[in-house]
Amino acid sequence: MVTTAAPGRDGARGASAAGWPASLWMETARPRPALGGTGGQDGVDVVIVGGGYTGLSAAQRFVERGLRPLIVEANGIGWGASGRNGGVVSPKFRFAIPAIARRHGLDVARRMAELGHEAVAAVEEAVRRDGIDDADLTMTGNLRCAHSQSAFDALKAEARTMREDFGDETSRILDRDEVAEETGSADFIGGVLVSHAGLIHPLNYALGLAEGLRGRGVGIWEGAPATSVRQDGSGVVVETPVGTIRANRVLLATNGYSDIAPGTAAIRRSVIPFRSAMVATGPLSEELRARLLRHGRSYSETRRMMRWFRPYRDRLIFGGRGAFGKNDSQAAFGALERAMHRVFPDLRDVPVTHRWSGLVAMTLDAVPQVGRLDDRISFALGYNGAGIAMASLMGRYAADVTLGDRPDLALLGPRKLSNVPFYPLREPAVRLTAGWYQFLDTIGR
Ligand SMILES: Cc1cc2nc3c(=O)[nH]c(=O)nc-3n(C[C@H](O)[C@H](O)[C@H](O)COP(=O)(O)OP(=O)(O)OC[C@H]3O[C@@H](n4cnc5c(N)ncnc54)[C@H](O)[C@@H]3O)c2cc1C
Repeated sequence: MVTTAAPGRDGARGASAAGWPASLWMETARPRPALGGTGGQDGVDVVIVGGGYTGLSAAQRFVERGLRPLIVEANGIGWGASGRNGGVVSPKFRFAIPAIARRHGLDVARRMAELGHEAVAAVEEAVRRDGIDDADLTMTGNLRCAHSQSAFDALKAEARTMREDFGDETSRILDRDEVAEETGSADFIGGVLVSHAGLIHPLNYALGLAEGLRGRGVGIWEGAPATSVRQDGSGVVVETPVGTIRANRVLLATNGYSDIAPGTAAIRRSVIPFRSAMVATGPLSEELRARLLRHGRSYSETRRMMRWFRPYRDRLIFGGRGAFGKNDSQAAFGALERAMHRVFPDLRDVPVTHRWSGLVAMTLDAVPQVGRLDDRISFALGYNGAGIAMASLMGRYAADVTLGDRPDLALLGPRKLSNVPFYPLREPAVRLTAGWYQFLDTIGR
Protein backbone atom coordinates (compact mmCIF):
# COMPACT_ATOMS: atom_id res chain seq x y z
CA MET A 1 0.00 0.00 0.00
CA VAL A 2 1.28 3.47 -0.79
CA THR A 3 1.87 5.33 2.45
CA THR A 4 -0.49 8.21 3.06
CA ALA A 5 1.12 11.59 2.60
CA ALA A 6 0.77 14.38 5.10
CA PRO A 7 -1.71 16.87 3.72
CA GLY A 8 -0.94 20.47 3.03
CA ARG A 9 -2.92 23.12 4.73
CA ASP A 10 -5.47 20.97 6.50
CA GLY A 11 -2.90 19.55 8.84
CA ALA A 12 -4.83 21.10 11.68
CA ARG A 13 -3.48 21.63 15.16
CA GLY A 14 -4.45 18.62 17.21
CA ALA A 15 -4.29 16.38 14.16
CA SER A 16 -2.63 13.05 14.59
CA ALA A 17 0.36 11.67 12.72
CA ALA A 18 0.36 12.01 8.92
CA GLY A 19 -2.20 14.84 9.05
CA TRP A 20 -5.21 12.72 9.91
CA PRO A 21 -7.64 14.41 12.26
CA ALA A 22 -7.64 13.27 15.89
CA SER A 23 -11.25 12.21 15.55
CA LEU A 24 -13.34 9.69 17.43
CA TRP A 25 -13.84 7.99 14.06
CA MET A 26 -10.10 7.46 13.64
CA GLU A 27 -9.88 5.97 17.11
CA THR A 28 -12.77 3.56 16.51
CA ALA A 29 -12.12 2.73 12.85
CA ARG A 30 -11.59 -0.73 11.42
CA PRO A 31 -7.98 -1.49 10.45
CA ARG A 32 -7.19 0.32 7.23
CA PRO A 33 -7.55 -2.10 4.31
CA ALA A 34 -4.51 -2.96 2.21
CA LEU A 35 -5.58 -1.33 -1.01
CA GLY A 36 -2.84 -2.67 -3.18
CA GLY A 37 -0.41 0.15 -4.05
CA THR A 38 -0.02 1.67 -7.47
CA GLY A 39 -0.74 -1.32 -9.65
CA GLY A 40 -3.84 -1.88 -11.70
CA GLN A 41 -3.48 0.92 -14.22
CA ASP A 42 -3.53 -1.28 -17.32
CA GLY A 43 -6.66 -0.84 -19.38
CA VAL A 44 -8.18 1.76 -17.08
CA ASP A 45 -11.26 3.36 -18.66
CA VAL A 46 -11.77 6.15 -16.20
CA VAL A 47 -9.74 7.83 -13.48
CA ILE A 48 -11.60 9.12 -10.45
CA VAL A 49 -9.80 11.88 -8.56
CA GLY A 50 -10.75 11.85 -4.85
CA GLY A 51 -11.38 8.94 -2.49
CA GLY A 52 -14.45 10.09 -0.54
CA TYR A 53 -18.05 8.93 -0.90
CA THR A 54 -18.43 10.62 -4.30
CA GLY A 55 -15.40 8.92 -5.83
CA LEU A 56 -16.06 5.55 -4.19
CA SER A 57 -19.73 5.48 -5.22
CA ALA A 58 -18.85 6.52 -8.76
CA ALA A 59 -16.29 3.71 -8.98
CA GLN A 60 -18.95 1.19 -7.98
CA ARG A 61 -21.30 2.50 -10.68
CA PHE A 62 -18.57 2.29 -13.35
CA VAL A 63 -17.95 -1.32 -12.35
CA GLU A 64 -21.68 -2.07 -12.65
CA ARG A 65 -21.53 -0.60 -16.16
CA GLY A 66 -18.70 -2.92 -17.13
CA LEU A 67 -15.89 -0.37 -17.02
CA ARG A 68 -12.55 -0.33 -15.30
CA PRO A 69 -12.17 2.67 -12.94
CA LEU A 70 -9.10 3.64 -10.92
CA ILE A 71 -9.21 6.00 -7.93
CA VAL A 72 -6.35 8.38 -7.14
CA GLU A 73 -6.54 9.86 -3.64
CA ALA A 74 -4.12 12.56 -2.47
CA ASN A 75 -4.02 11.31 1.11
CA GLY A 76 -5.93 8.18 2.09
CA ILE A 77 -9.46 6.87 1.60
CA GLY A 78 -11.77 8.86 3.88
CA TRP A 79 -9.16 11.51 4.67
CA GLY A 80 -11.50 14.31 3.49
CA ALA A 81 -14.97 15.12 4.78
CA SER A 82 -16.07 11.52 4.27
CA GLY A 83 -13.97 10.29 7.17
CA ARG A 84 -14.57 13.24 9.48
CA ASN A 85 -18.26 14.07 9.36
CA GLY A 86 -21.05 13.79 11.92
CA GLY A 87 -22.57 10.63 10.48
CA VAL A 88 -26.05 12.17 10.16
CA VAL A 89 -27.66 10.37 7.23
CA SER A 90 -30.61 12.44 6.02
CA PRO A 91 -32.65 13.02 2.85
CA LYS A 92 -32.67 16.79 3.47
CA PHE A 93 -31.11 19.47 1.34
CA ARG A 94 -30.04 22.84 2.70
CA PHE A 95 -33.30 24.32 1.41
CA ALA A 96 -36.92 23.33 1.95
CA ILE A 97 -38.65 21.41 -0.84
CA PRO A 98 -41.77 23.68 -0.74
CA ALA A 99 -39.46 26.64 -1.50
CA ILE A 100 -38.23 24.76 -4.57
CA ALA A 101 -41.85 24.15 -5.60
CA ARG A 102 -42.61 27.88 -5.38
CA ARG A 103 -39.56 28.82 -7.41
CA HIS A 104 -39.20 25.98 -9.91
CA GLY A 105 -42.60 24.28 -9.97
CA LEU A 106 -44.02 21.12 -8.46
CA ASP A 107 -42.39 18.61 -10.82
CA VAL A 108 -38.87 19.82 -10.07
CA ALA A 109 -39.62 19.89 -6.35
CA ARG A 110 -41.04 16.35 -6.47
CA ARG A 111 -37.93 15.06 -8.18
CA MET A 112 -35.69 16.82 -5.65
CA ALA A 113 -37.63 15.24 -2.77
CA GLU A 114 -37.36 11.86 -4.50
CA LEU A 115 -33.59 12.31 -4.93
CA GLY A 116 -33.27 12.96 -1.19
CA HIS A 117 -34.85 9.60 -0.35
CA GLU A 118 -33.00 7.86 -3.21
CA ALA A 119 -29.80 9.16 -1.64
CA VAL A 120 -30.55 7.64 1.77
CA ALA A 121 -31.50 4.39 0.03
CA ALA A 122 -28.14 4.48 -1.79
CA VAL A 123 -26.35 4.39 1.58
CA GLU A 124 -28.55 1.55 2.83
CA GLU A 125 -27.95 -0.41 -0.35
CA ALA A 126 -24.16 0.13 -0.33
CA VAL A 127 -23.84 -0.94 3.32
CA ARG A 128 -25.87 -4.07 2.55
CA ARG A 129 -24.00 -4.86 -0.66
CA ASP A 130 -20.55 -4.59 0.89
CA GLY A 131 -21.56 -5.99 4.28
CA ILE A 132 -20.22 -2.92 6.10
CA ASP A 133 -21.56 -3.93 9.50
CA ASP A 134 -19.09 -1.79 11.40
CA ALA A 135 -20.52 1.32 9.72
CA ASP A 136 -23.22 0.81 12.39
CA LEU A 137 -25.92 2.21 10.09
CA THR A 138 -29.04 2.62 12.21
CA MET A 139 -32.16 4.03 10.62
CA THR A 140 -33.50 5.60 13.78
CA GLY A 141 -34.59 8.83 12.09
CA ASN A 142 -33.52 12.45 12.24
CA LEU A 143 -35.10 14.98 14.54
CA ARG A 144 -34.94 18.59 13.42
CA CYS A 145 -35.14 20.75 16.53
CA ALA A 146 -36.63 24.25 16.23
CA HIS A 147 -34.73 26.98 18.05
CA SER A 148 -37.49 29.60 17.70
CA GLN A 149 -41.24 29.81 17.19
CA SER A 150 -40.83 31.08 13.62
CA ALA A 151 -38.47 28.19 12.81
CA PHE A 152 -40.98 25.73 14.31
CA ASP A 153 -43.83 27.26 12.29
CA ALA A 154 -41.75 26.89 9.13
CA LEU A 155 -40.88 23.26 10.00
CA LYS A 156 -44.53 22.42 10.61
CA ALA A 157 -45.64 24.09 7.38
CA GLU A 158 -42.97 22.17 5.48
CA ALA A 159 -44.00 18.83 7.04
CA ARG A 160 -47.67 19.47 6.17
CA THR A 161 -46.86 20.45 2.58
CA MET A 162 -44.63 17.41 2.20
CA ARG A 163 -47.46 15.19 3.31
CA GLU A 164 -50.32 16.85 1.42
CA ASP A 165 -48.62 17.86 -1.86
CA PHE A 166 -45.84 15.28 -2.08
CA GLY A 167 -47.41 12.26 -0.36
CA ASP A 168 -44.36 12.12 1.94
CA GLU A 169 -45.46 10.32 5.08
CA THR A 170 -42.01 10.10 6.64
CA SER A 171 -42.28 13.09 8.97
CA ARG A 172 -44.10 13.70 12.26
CA ILE A 173 -44.44 16.95 14.19
CA LEU A 174 -43.34 16.84 17.85
CA ASP A 175 -44.27 19.47 20.44
CA ARG A 176 -41.96 21.11 22.96
CA ASP A 177 -42.38 18.39 25.61
CA GLU A 178 -41.81 15.59 23.15
CA VAL A 179 -38.60 17.19 21.88
CA ALA A 180 -37.45 17.71 25.47
CA GLU A 181 -38.10 14.03 26.19
CA GLU A 182 -36.28 13.03 23.00
CA THR A 183 -33.20 15.20 23.47
CA GLY A 184 -32.98 15.75 27.23
CA SER A 185 -32.64 19.47 26.43
CA ALA A 186 -35.08 22.26 27.25
CA ASP A 187 -33.64 24.41 24.48
CA PHE A 188 -36.17 23.72 21.72
CA ILE A 189 -39.69 24.88 20.92
CA GLY A 190 -40.66 21.74 19.01
CA GLY A 191 -39.43 19.67 16.10
CA VAL A 192 -40.06 17.39 13.16
CA LEU A 193 -39.00 13.76 13.17
CA VAL A 194 -38.10 12.30 9.77
CA SER A 195 -38.12 8.51 9.84
CA HIS A 196 -36.13 7.77 6.64
CA ALA A 197 -32.81 8.88 8.13
CA GLY A 198 -30.28 7.72 10.65
CA LEU A 199 -26.71 7.45 11.81
CA ILE A 200 -23.50 5.96 10.49
CA HIS A 201 -19.81 5.59 11.41
CA PRO A 202 -18.57 7.74 8.54
CA LEU A 203 -14.99 6.50 8.28
CA ASN A 204 -15.92 2.82 8.47
CA TYR A 205 -18.48 3.45 5.73
CA ALA A 206 -15.78 4.94 3.46
CA LEU A 207 -13.26 2.20 4.27
CA GLY A 208 -15.92 -0.48 3.75
CA LEU A 209 -16.78 0.94 0.31
CA ALA A 210 -13.07 0.93 -0.60
CA GLU A 211 -12.65 -2.65 0.56
CA GLY A 212 -15.67 -3.72 -1.48
CA LEU A 213 -14.23 -2.06 -4.59
CA ARG A 214 -10.85 -3.62 -3.99
CA GLY A 215 -12.54 -7.02 -3.85
CA ARG A 216 -14.01 -6.28 -7.29
CA GLY A 217 -10.55 -5.51 -8.64
CA VAL A 218 -10.69 -1.69 -8.64
CA GLY A 219 -7.30 0.02 -8.37
CA ILE A 220 -7.04 2.56 -5.54
CA TRP A 221 -3.93 4.68 -5.24
CA GLU A 222 -3.46 6.43 -1.90
CA GLY A 223 -0.90 9.20 -1.38
CA ALA A 224 -1.43 10.08 -5.05
CA PRO A 225 -2.49 13.72 -5.55
CA ALA A 226 -3.43 14.46 -9.16
CA THR A 227 -0.96 17.18 -10.06
CA SER A 228 -2.13 17.47 -13.65
CA VAL A 229 -5.27 16.38 -15.51
CA ARG A 230 -5.26 17.08 -19.25
CA GLN A 231 -6.72 15.97 -22.54
CA ASP A 232 -4.16 14.31 -24.74
CA GLY A 233 -5.12 13.16 -28.22
CA SER A 234 -7.95 10.70 -27.85
CA GLY A 235 -7.73 10.38 -24.09
CA VAL A 236 -6.92 12.02 -20.78
CA VAL A 237 -3.69 11.90 -18.84
CA VAL A 238 -3.62 12.13 -15.05
CA GLU A 239 -0.26 12.73 -13.43
CA THR A 240 0.51 11.96 -9.80
CA PRO A 241 3.87 11.81 -8.00
CA VAL A 242 3.56 8.02 -7.82
CA GLY A 243 2.56 7.36 -11.41
CA THR A 244 0.87 8.62 -14.57
CA ILE A 245 -2.33 7.09 -15.92
CA ARG A 246 -3.91 7.34 -19.33
CA ALA A 247 -7.64 6.77 -19.64
CA ASN A 248 -10.67 7.70 -21.70
CA ARG A 249 -12.34 9.84 -19.05
CA VAL A 250 -11.81 11.51 -15.68
CA LEU A 251 -14.25 12.30 -12.87
CA LEU A 252 -13.22 14.99 -10.39
CA ALA A 253 -14.62 14.15 -6.94
CA THR A 254 -12.61 16.39 -4.63
CA ASN A 255 -15.38 18.60 -3.17
CA GLY A 256 -14.17 20.95 -0.36
CA TYR A 257 -10.56 19.85 -0.90
CA SER A 258 -10.35 20.76 -4.58
CA ASP A 259 -7.47 23.17 -4.01
CA ILE A 260 -4.94 20.88 -2.36
CA ALA A 261 -3.19 19.94 -5.62
CA PRO A 262 -3.04 21.61 -9.05
CA GLY A 263 -4.74 18.78 -10.98
CA THR A 264 -8.16 19.88 -9.76
CA ALA A 265 -7.69 23.64 -10.26
CA ALA A 266 -10.46 23.70 -12.88
CA ILE A 267 -13.17 23.11 -10.28
CA ARG A 268 -11.62 24.89 -7.29
CA ARG A 269 -13.61 28.09 -7.72
CA SER A 270 -16.99 26.39 -7.91
CA VAL A 271 -17.27 25.91 -4.14
CA ILE A 272 -16.51 27.86 -0.99
CA PRO A 273 -14.72 25.59 1.49
CA PHE A 274 -16.19 26.16 4.94
CA ARG A 275 -14.76 24.59 8.07
CA SER A 276 -17.10 22.46 10.08
CA ALA A 277 -16.01 21.19 13.50
CA MET A 278 -16.97 18.44 15.93
CA VAL A 279 -16.33 17.61 19.55
CA ALA A 280 -16.95 14.31 21.33
CA THR A 281 -17.43 13.87 25.05
CA GLY A 282 -15.92 11.13 27.13
CA PRO A 283 -18.19 8.26 28.18
CA LEU A 284 -21.44 9.45 29.79
CA SER A 285 -22.82 8.04 33.00
CA GLU A 286 -25.71 5.61 32.73
CA GLU A 287 -28.01 8.28 34.13
CA LEU A 288 -27.04 10.78 31.40
CA ARG A 289 -27.30 8.16 28.68
CA ALA A 290 -30.83 7.38 29.80
CA ARG A 291 -31.78 11.05 29.53
CA LEU A 292 -29.82 12.60 26.61
CA LEU A 293 -30.63 11.57 23.02
CA ARG A 294 -32.16 8.43 24.50
CA HIS A 295 -33.75 7.24 21.24
CA GLY A 296 -30.39 7.17 19.49
CA ARG A 297 -31.34 9.28 16.47
CA SER A 298 -29.48 12.02 14.63
CA TYR A 299 -30.49 15.54 15.64
CA SER A 300 -30.04 18.86 13.84
CA GLU A 301 -31.05 22.40 14.71
CA THR A 302 -32.90 24.92 12.60
CA ARG A 303 -30.38 27.69 13.23
CA ARG A 304 -28.84 29.18 10.10
CA MET A 305 -25.44 28.35 11.57
CA MET A 306 -26.68 24.81 12.01
CA ARG A 307 -25.47 22.56 14.80
CA TRP A 308 -26.13 18.86 15.04
CA PHE A 309 -25.61 16.16 17.63
CA ARG A 310 -25.82 12.45 18.03
CA PRO A 311 -24.83 9.67 20.38
CA TYR A 312 -22.02 7.29 19.52
CA ARG A 313 -21.88 4.29 21.82
CA ASP A 314 -21.65 5.87 25.30
CA ARG A 315 -20.61 9.35 24.11
CA LEU A 316 -22.27 12.44 22.71
CA ILE A 317 -20.93 14.15 19.60
CA PHE A 318 -21.73 17.79 18.87
CA GLY A 319 -20.95 19.61 15.62
CA GLY A 320 -21.15 23.11 14.20
CA ARG A 321 -19.15 25.90 12.61
CA GLY A 322 -15.37 25.57 12.78
CA ALA A 323 -12.66 28.19 12.56
CA PHE A 324 -12.55 30.60 9.64
CA GLY A 325 -9.49 30.41 7.47
CA LYS A 326 -7.05 27.67 6.77
CA ASN A 327 -6.50 26.11 10.19
CA ASP A 328 -8.35 25.01 13.26
CA SER A 329 -8.44 27.28 16.26
CA GLN A 330 -8.95 26.45 19.91
CA ALA A 331 -11.28 29.47 20.05
CA ALA A 332 -13.66 27.85 17.54
CA PHE A 333 -13.66 24.58 19.50
CA GLY A 334 -14.24 26.59 22.69
CA ALA A 335 -17.28 28.28 21.11
CA LEU A 336 -18.62 24.90 20.02
CA GLU A 337 -18.22 23.48 23.53
CA ARG A 338 -20.02 26.50 25.02
CA ALA A 339 -22.85 25.96 22.53
CA MET A 340 -23.02 22.30 23.54
CA HIS A 341 -23.20 23.26 27.22
CA ARG A 342 -26.01 25.73 26.52
CA VAL A 343 -28.05 22.98 24.85
CA PHE A 344 -26.99 20.29 27.33
CA PRO A 345 -26.05 21.96 30.65
CA ASP A 346 -25.61 18.47 32.13
CA LEU A 347 -22.49 17.99 30.01
CA ARG A 348 -20.56 20.79 31.75
CA ASP A 349 -18.81 18.31 34.01
CA VAL A 350 -18.12 15.74 31.31
CA PRO A 351 -14.70 16.08 29.65
CA VAL A 352 -14.40 16.59 25.89
CA THR A 353 -11.97 13.98 24.62
CA HIS A 354 -11.87 14.59 20.83
CA ARG A 355 -11.89 17.76 18.74
CA TRP A 356 -11.59 17.75 14.98
CA SER A 357 -12.76 19.51 11.85
CA GLY A 358 -12.99 19.28 8.09
CA LEU A 359 -14.04 21.26 5.05
CA VAL A 360 -17.51 21.23 3.57
CA ALA A 361 -18.12 22.64 0.09
CA MET A 362 -20.73 25.38 -0.08
CA THR A 363 -22.26 26.59 -3.34
CA LEU A 364 -23.91 29.96 -3.85
CA ASP A 365 -27.38 28.48 -4.41
CA ALA A 366 -26.89 25.69 -1.82
CA VAL A 367 -27.45 23.10 -4.58
CA PRO A 368 -24.90 20.35 -5.33
CA GLN A 369 -23.54 20.31 -8.90
CA VAL A 370 -23.03 17.39 -11.26
CA GLY A 371 -21.89 17.86 -14.84
CA ARG A 372 -19.15 17.81 -17.44
CA LEU A 373 -16.33 20.27 -18.03
CA ASP A 374 -15.91 18.85 -21.53
CA ASP A 375 -16.47 15.56 -23.34
CA ARG A 376 -13.93 13.75 -21.16
CA ILE A 377 -13.81 15.43 -17.76
CA SER A 378 -16.75 15.55 -15.37
CA PHE A 379 -17.34 16.62 -11.78
CA ALA A 380 -19.70 16.16 -8.79
CA LEU A 381 -19.44 18.40 -5.75
CA GLY A 382 -21.02 21.04 -3.49
CA TYR A 383 -23.09 19.09 -0.98
CA ASN A 384 -23.24 22.08 1.36
CA GLY A 385 -22.43 20.01 4.43
CA ALA A 386 -25.13 17.39 3.84
CA GLY A 387 -23.33 14.88 1.67
CA ILE A 388 -23.24 11.43 3.25
CA ALA A 389 -26.36 10.34 1.42
CA MET A 390 -26.19 12.81 -1.46
CA ALA A 391 -22.54 12.11 -2.37
CA SER A 392 -23.30 8.38 -2.21
CA LEU A 393 -26.02 8.94 -4.81
CA MET A 394 -24.43 11.71 -6.87
CA GLY A 395 -21.26 9.68 -7.30
CA ARG A 396 -23.38 7.05 -9.03
CA TYR A 397 -25.16 9.57 -11.25
CA ALA A 398 -21.88 11.36 -11.95
CA ALA A 399 -20.57 8.11 -13.41
CA ASP A 400 -23.58 8.03 -15.76
CA VAL A 401 -23.06 11.69 -16.68
CA THR A 402 -19.36 10.99 -17.33
CA LEU A 403 -20.46 8.37 -19.86
CA GLY A 404 -22.68 10.88 -21.64
CA ASP A 405 -26.07 10.02 -20.08
CA ARG A 406 -28.45 12.77 -19.02
CA PRO A 407 -30.32 11.40 -15.98
CA ASP A 408 -33.11 13.52 -14.52
CA LEU A 409 -31.40 15.19 -11.58
CA ALA A 410 -33.69 18.24 -11.42
CA LEU A 411 -31.68 21.23 -10.14
CA LEU A 412 -28.53 19.19 -9.54
CA GLY A 413 -27.68 18.75 -13.20
CA PRO A 414 -26.28 17.72 -15.47
CA ARG A 415 -25.20 21.33 -15.52
CA LYS A 416 -22.29 23.55 -16.45
CA LEU A 417 -19.87 24.24 -13.64
CA SER A 418 -20.86 27.48 -11.98
CA ASN A 419 -18.04 29.33 -10.36
CA VAL A 420 -18.30 31.55 -7.30
CA PRO A 421 -17.99 35.20 -8.41
CA PHE A 422 -15.35 37.32 -6.65
CA TYR A 423 -13.66 34.12 -5.47
CA PRO A 424 -10.63 35.88 -3.91
CA LEU A 425 -13.05 37.67 -1.56
CA ARG A 426 -14.61 34.44 -0.33
CA GLU A 427 -13.03 34.43 3.13
CA PRO A 428 -14.17 37.92 4.23
CA ALA A 429 -17.56 37.21 2.61
CA VAL A 430 -17.93 33.98 4.59
CA ARG A 431 -17.03 35.75 7.85
CA LEU A 432 -19.51 38.54 7.13
CA THR A 433 -22.33 36.14 6.23
CA ALA A 434 -21.63 33.89 9.22
CA GLY A 435 -21.65 36.90 11.55
CA TRP A 436 -24.98 38.05 10.14
CA TYR A 437 -26.47 34.54 10.44
CA GLN A 438 -25.24 34.25 14.00
CA PHE A 439 -26.90 37.56 14.83
CA LEU A 440 -30.21 36.42 13.30
CA ASP A 441 -29.97 33.11 15.19
CA THR A 442 -29.28 34.91 18.45
CA ILE A 443 -32.31 37.17 18.12
CA GLY A 444 -34.44 34.14 17.16
CA ARG A 445 -35.18 35.17 13.54
C1 LIG B 1 -16.99 18.13 10.12
C2 LIG B 1 -17.98 17.71 9.07
C3 LIG B 1 -19.21 17.22 9.47
C4 LIG B 1 -20.14 16.81 8.49
N1 LIG B 1 -21.30 16.21 8.92
C5 LIG B 1 -22.15 15.68 8.01
C6 LIG B 1 -23.28 14.94 8.43
O1 LIG B 1 -23.47 14.70 9.62
N2 LIG B 1 -24.13 14.48 7.47
C7 LIG B 1 -23.91 14.69 6.14
O2 LIG B 1 -24.72 14.25 5.31
N3 LIG B 1 -22.80 15.34 5.70
C8 LIG B 1 -21.92 15.83 6.60
N4 LIG B 1 -20.78 16.46 6.17
C9 LIG B 1 -20.54 16.58 4.72
C10 LIG B 1 -20.04 15.28 4.09
O3 LIG B 1 -19.03 14.72 4.88
C11 LIG B 1 -19.51 15.58 2.68
O4 LIG B 1 -20.52 16.23 1.93
C12 LIG B 1 -19.08 14.34 1.92
O5 LIG B 1 -18.22 13.55 2.71
C13 LIG B 1 -18.38 14.73 0.61
O6 LIG B 1 -17.78 13.59 0.06
P1 LIG B 1 -16.79 13.75 -1.18
O7 LIG B 1 -16.35 12.40 -1.56
O8 LIG B 1 -17.45 14.56 -2.24
O9 LIG B 1 -15.58 14.64 -0.64
P2 LIG B 1 -14.43 14.29 0.44
O10 LIG B 1 -14.84 13.22 1.35
O11 LIG B 1 -14.02 15.60 1.05
O12 LIG B 1 -13.26 13.70 -0.43
C14 LIG B 1 -12.48 14.47 -1.30
C15 LIG B 1 -11.13 13.78 -1.39
O13 LIG B 1 -10.42 14.31 -2.51
C16 LIG B 1 -9.05 14.22 -2.21
N5 LIG B 1 -8.35 15.11 -3.14
C17 LIG B 1 -8.44 16.47 -3.23
N6 LIG B 1 -7.69 16.92 -4.26
C18 LIG B 1 -7.11 15.83 -4.83
C19 LIG B 1 -6.24 15.65 -5.94
N7 LIG B 1 -5.82 16.69 -6.70
N8 LIG B 1 -5.85 14.39 -6.25
C20 LIG B 1 -6.30 13.31 -5.53
N9 LIG B 1 -7.13 13.45 -4.48
C21 LIG B 1 -7.54 14.68 -4.13
C22 LIG B 1 -8.96 14.62 -0.75
O14 LIG B 1 -7.77 14.13 -0.14
C23 LIG B 1 -10.23 13.99 -0.17
O15 LIG B 1 -9.99 12.74 0.45
C24 LIG B 1 -19.84 16.92 7.10
C25 LIG B 1 -18.60 17.43 6.72
C26 LIG B 1 -17.67 17.81 7.69
C27 LIG B 1 -16.33 18.33 7.23
